[in-house]
Amino acid sequence: MPLRCSEIPDRANAYIDRETSVIDYLKVASHLATCPNCRTYVRGLRVTRTLAAASLVAEMPEELRRRLDRGDHRSDDNLEPTKP
Ligand SMILES: [Zn+2]
Repeated sequence: MPLRCSEIPDRANAYIDRETSVIDYLKVASHLATCPNCRTYVRGLRVTRTLAAASLVAEMPEELRRRLDRGDHRSDDNLEPTKP
């Protein structure tokens, strides 16, 4: 049974996160293939979420961001004494 437009917003977040069942994912995908309105809706939602994620990164302290960039997560748990 195809989804109606009114059923898309409930599933859009899970669809973007790929947290739906395969069946639901395909239902949403096939609805989007035929419905420009819902396609626009999902695209807008995705952009909004990307911007929200980007602004989270922008609010991170510089030092933390630099560490994440280097992939340096281990400097603080190096508790073992160094061997001579
Ligand atoms: Zn639709």
